[in-house]
Amino acid sequence: MKQLVDAYQREIDYLRISVTDRCNLRCRYCMPEEGVKNLAHNQILSYEQIVKIVKTGAELGIKKIRLTGGDPLVRKDIAQLVALLKKINGIKEVSMTTNGILLSEYATELKQAGLDRVNISLDTLKADKYQKITKVDAISKVKQGIKTALEYDFKPVKLNVVLLKDFNDDEVFDFIDLTRKHPLHVRFIEWMAFNDTAGNNYLSIDELKTKLEQRIKMESIDLSSGNGPARYYTFSGCKGSVGFISPVSNHFCDSCNRLRLTADGKLRFCLCSEQEIDLLTARGQVNTRALKNKFESAIKNKPDAHNLKETGNNALDSMSQIGG
Ligand code: SAM
Repeated sequence: MKQLVDAYQREIDYLRISVTDRCNLRCRYCMPEEGVKNLAHNQILSYEQIVKIVKTGAELGIKKIRLTGGDPLVRKDIAQLVALLKKINGIKEVSMTTNGILLSEYATELKQAGLDRVNISLDTLKADKYQKITKVDAISKVKQGIKTALEYDFKPVKLNVVLLKDFNDDEVFDFIDLTRKHPLHVRFIEWMAFNDTAGNNYLSIDELKTKLEQRIKMESIDLSSGNGPARYYTFSGCKGSVGFISPVSNHFCDSCNRLRLTADGKLRFCLCSEQEIDLLTARGQVNTRALKNKFESAIKNKPDAHNLKETGNNALDSMSQIGG
């Protein structure tokens, strides 16, 4: 199998695909206050186009796919896409990142389609705070989604918690308690200042770890199935793990193995750079012959590292536009 290796000797084998720019939440840190203008339906890649792109990527060495968005579960017939991707030669894993609201509804179809694993995003366990951050009253559906994911044995089930100073840092032990009760992998992620006008919520992973270590003796474990960004820990009585992701204070760019595909067919080299290559032709088609060169060009131009600042507006597209 051919390998995609960039100018900094990183092997690129992971493609994150934003299957839609639409989301059923309005998270303050993910979407600008004024909202975003949704792409027209005919601007979104069809499943057939996504499959063509992934087939070429797989021939070049892409092995892992993550479906994201927007929220991937708001895209119609998403399980069909999972099944199509699972059949592609060379693709070893198809996973999904979702807010979990529709997970219970689609879990059976997704399992049957072969979805390997799921990450669910949840920043608070309290209904009023959930509504405050997401602007939607849906926490009970998310909690049900987590329960369903565990019952369906998606392995592993990870919970993504964006660490927000003075908002959810008082709940970190409640999240950790979940790992005592369930085989859940709770991952705390540093907040990144993308177009967030609602103040600075940055809290470093180091500060969080210091707070945790005063009460819990944690032991480092190797959970990653590759060079993922999280560092994982366990502690006595823990059925899952606690993970830390520090994109700002201690970025993991030197082991970055990923490219991102936006919902309208642009290949992005880095979450924090607006450089991209349009995989569609001027007439909006996927030209499979040109795809290989476009992938290789993206790899050639992948920056060595990002330069995210802890505070202020990094003047980048928000996650909802890129696909987190
Ligand atoms: N809708 C899906 C979800 O909620 O997981 C997938 C897309 S969302 C953009 C992917 C992840 O990005 C979520 O875990 C979300 O919390 C995270 N995210 C969005 N904006 C962020 C920011 N400014 N800093 C850190 N994480 C962010």
